[in-house]
Amino acid sequence: MKGFAMLEIGKVGWIEKDKPVAGPLDAIVRPLAIAPCTSDIHTVWSGAIGERHNMILGHEAVGEIVEVGSHVKDFKPGDKVIVPAITPDWGSLEAQSGYSQHSGGMLSGWKFSNFKDGVFAEYFHVNEADANLALLPEGIKPQDAVMLSDMVVTGFHGAEMADIRLGDSVVVIGIGPVGLMAVAGANLMGASHIYAVGSRPNCVKIAKEYGATEIINYKKGDIVEQVMSLTNGKGVDKVIIAGGNNDTFAQAITMLKPGGKIGNINYLGEGEFIKIPRVEWGVGMGHKQIVGGLTPGGRLKMEKLASLMVTGKLDTSKLVTHVFKGFEHIEEALMLMKDKPADLIKPVVICED
Ligand code: NAD
Ligand code: ZN
Repeated sequence: MKGFAMLEIGKVGWIEKDKPVAGPLDAIVRPLAIAPCTSDIHTVWSGAIGERHNMILGHEAVGEIVEVGSHVKDFKPGDKVIVPAITPDWGSLEAQSGYSQHSGGMLSGWKFSNFKDGVFAEYFHVNEADANLALLPEGIKPQDAVMLSDMVVTGFHGAEMADIRLGDSVVVIGIGPVGLMAVAGANLMGASHIYAVGSRPNCVKIAKEYGATEIINYKKGDIVEQVMSLTNGKGVDKVIIAGGNNDTFAQAITMLKPGGKIGNINYLGEGEFIKIPRVEWGVGMGHKQIVGGLTPGGRLKMEKLASLMVTGKLDTSKLVTHVFKGFEHIEEALMLMKDKPADLIKPVVICED
């Protein structure tokens, strides 16, 4: 079969591989809709997780099951499914402790395009199908549902880690697709003021539609000063980091009230350290918490998030700015994600109509 792969750090291309084989609990799926992720860009062009050779890329997919293992109970060939980016080993001790993302070791619940071939292939393998796949609900288009695999669940996880409570004031730093979903998640969880930090006009417009109440342009002055001025010098209850760099933590801590929380979902692709400013962190005693996490995966999470689409509480179609028809366009879609033209939020490749 054909797949689009990371050949080595900085190099991508089409390769041929054997079709994957399903173990007793697994499924083999063919993609209906796939999307590249900014994380694929960090992985290939920053070498952020280290060297990988001939590893098929991609971890965002909606697909059709072509084969299931002998122990799979709830799915059969022909079922259309949402495939989460993170597919944990649910029996692991890490999963039992509540951190399925790290089943088998740090970040090891993230298998596609990290520890095994990803979804940019004619066929891909899903471990523990009953626990990791979710049926695509009737009436939801694959190109919208593929946003659930990673963008929705990750943005929402930022809001979960920041522990948004009713009435909280929240800053969301970075409003690419993940940050936009952090805005939507914070809004659904009951935030009051949502200050979205971004600059591109289309992202700003959509951030407002998802619930941002104020926009802060990081290209027009220091964002800490802007947040402080908008909050009468008090700062905010919560910050979600979905963009920026290693210095962004210093800004996030500075704009946080004592007792505040930061939820980081940004993938820190470069550099050795992040900065925590001593005084602004309350000289070690400010009760300002930082939680950074890999997005959750699994069937339950996907089913719950899909139900927000079914009930009309979440519309992911606004994220999808570029649609390609035909599996062979995945290379173009990935390069678009790398180059990030100003009008891009998220490209999707429809593998078949
Ligand atoms: P993106 O590049 O589209 O969006 C990031 C945005 O941040 C951009 O619009 C950029 O202009 C903006 N930005 C850059 N510097 C900034 C600054 N100093 N202040 C404010 N904004 C700034 O990326 P995305 O696809 O939305 O993904 C966001 C991050 O989430 C990426 O690092 C991605 O790898 C990561 N990610 C993490 C997980 C996870 O499991 N935690 C999952 C998916 C993606
Ligand atoms: Zn991703």
